[in-house]
Amino acid sequence: MVMGSLRQKADVVVIGAGPGGYVAALRAADLGKEVILVEAREQRGGVCLIEGCIPSKALIHASELLEETKSAKKMGLTFKADVDVDQLRKWKGQVVSGLTKGIDGLLSKRGVEVVTGYARFENSKSLAIEGSDVAGIDFKHCIIATGSRPIHLPFTEDKGCWTSKEALDLPKIPKRLLVIGGGYIGLELGFVYAGLGSKVVCVEFLDRVLAGADRDLSDVVKKSAQKRFEKLMLSSKVTAVEKKGDDFEVTIETDGKATTETFDAVFVAVGRKPNTEDLGLGKTKVEVDDRGLIVTDEQCRTADPNIFAIGDITHGPQLAHKASREAKVATETIAGHNAAFDNRAIPAVVFTHPELAWTGITEEEAKEQGKNVRTGVFPFAALGRAKTLGNAEGMVKVIVDAESELVLGVGIVGPSASDLIAEATLAIEMGAVLEDLMVTIHPHPTLSESIMEAAEVAGDACVHLPKPKKKADAKA
Ligand code: NAD
Repeated sequence: MVMGSLRQKADVVVIGAGPGGYVAALRAADLGKEVILVEAREQRGGVCLIEGCIPSKALIHASELLEETKSAKKMGLTFKADVDVDQLRKWKGQVVSGLTKGIDGLLSKRGVEVVTGYARFENSKSLAIEGSDVAGIDFKHCIIATGSRPIHLPFTEDKGCWTSKEALDLPKIPKRLLVIGGGYIGLELGFVYAGLGSKVVCVEFLDRVLAGADRDLSDVVKKSAQKRFEKLMLSSKVTAVEKKGDDFEVTIETDGKATTETFDAVFVAVGRKPNTEDLGLGKTKVEVDDRGLIVTDEQCRTADPNIFAIGDITHGPQLAHKASREAKVATETIAGHNAAFDNRAIPAVVFTHPELAWTGITEEEAKEQGKNVRTGVFPFAALGRAKTLGNAEGMVKVIVDAESELVLGVGIVGPSASDLIAEATLAIEMGAVLEDLMVTIHPHPTLSESIMEAAEVAGDACVHLPKPKKKADAKA
């Protein structure tokens, strides 16, 4: 264990250089604070940049490009595509290192001091740093942004099974890959490996995939996975994994019936847990709940007045953009601004094929909460631009309050759902009503028209779908 002898002081110390931490460090510096950013890894960027969102999106793009070379045949285009795994891995690495250097440049231009080492609280005003020349840091305020790590199942640990970290390293293209978990990570990387040539079997505990989204939307991804994977096993669980030579012998239970199958690789994607247990939080007043999450208020302040917490270690979705927003709230609060995390909508995006995105409330949540809502659904199959892309799978669903017509939520499954969801999120934040979406001129021919069309369906004014029969007409 390396312990230095230097002691430093800062207005704000940020622990963790992911999309929560590095954004907090930059913003705090812009607000005139002396900032130290402590990061245990050699690179800045956190899981999102180094072994999460960015490398996965690079691989998803590459594997979808490969898929497009196959589907272009219907347009009269034929390609012979080969996969050079070493070059693909290298390119993904270049994307990551380019962005990491970008963050380092931003930090150094703002005078943020970066300390590489592992931070633990000594008390509510100081940190001890392990593995650095800097022994400790005294602070006025600290922002904890230590993120999360993948969970293993009791029988997958120490058996050479992959988590997202190993899967993103692209160690090989297994002939037959078992993915445990049909959530964000399991499906996104399941599609990548299927695209690169693996026979993918995905085992999901629930009777559906991507349980956070409405079922009618996630079912579109489910059907696509059923086409691209060898098997999607719902209402199933893995109960044992044994290493047999280079292979994995896996027991899978469905409806109480166990089967044994052999795979070349096993990838565990059953959720992530917060990195809070080894921070010395017991030496502060910070409160941690039974799931290891730090309890915070609207300003991202913990029970300890000098200490803030943001990102995956706090309540709410484990999403980079939520962490970045919280970073701004925490730093602006520290700087004495009137800031609060009072966002009405946090968009969620799953980069599958097709992409799935939702924001605000889902229709299922609205029903659970007893809200009286109206919905409008428009299929991409009726949209010119989607047809020209040769990719018209999916739909847009707009959810509004039945009386006030306030836009409460939007769900999109289909081409560029990841980008389209931003307009819907802005609409919810701005308190838009249905008419705002209906009368806003959307450029033609674009995918963005699908949101206007879905709003028009909800407003009974859509001309691009057959006129729905009124209840009275239907009776006549
Ligand atoms: P997840 O919660 O999205 O999905 C885990 C899935 O595993 C669930 O569907 C669950 O029912 C299933 N499961 C749990 N135990 C199981 C078992 N024993 N057998 C079979 N299935 C089991 O978790 P994740 O995919 O690991 O992702 C973690 C978090 O990371 C996500 O919640 C998300 O917030 C974040 N993430 C976001 C993105 C993105 O924004 N595009 C991408 C990746 C990850």
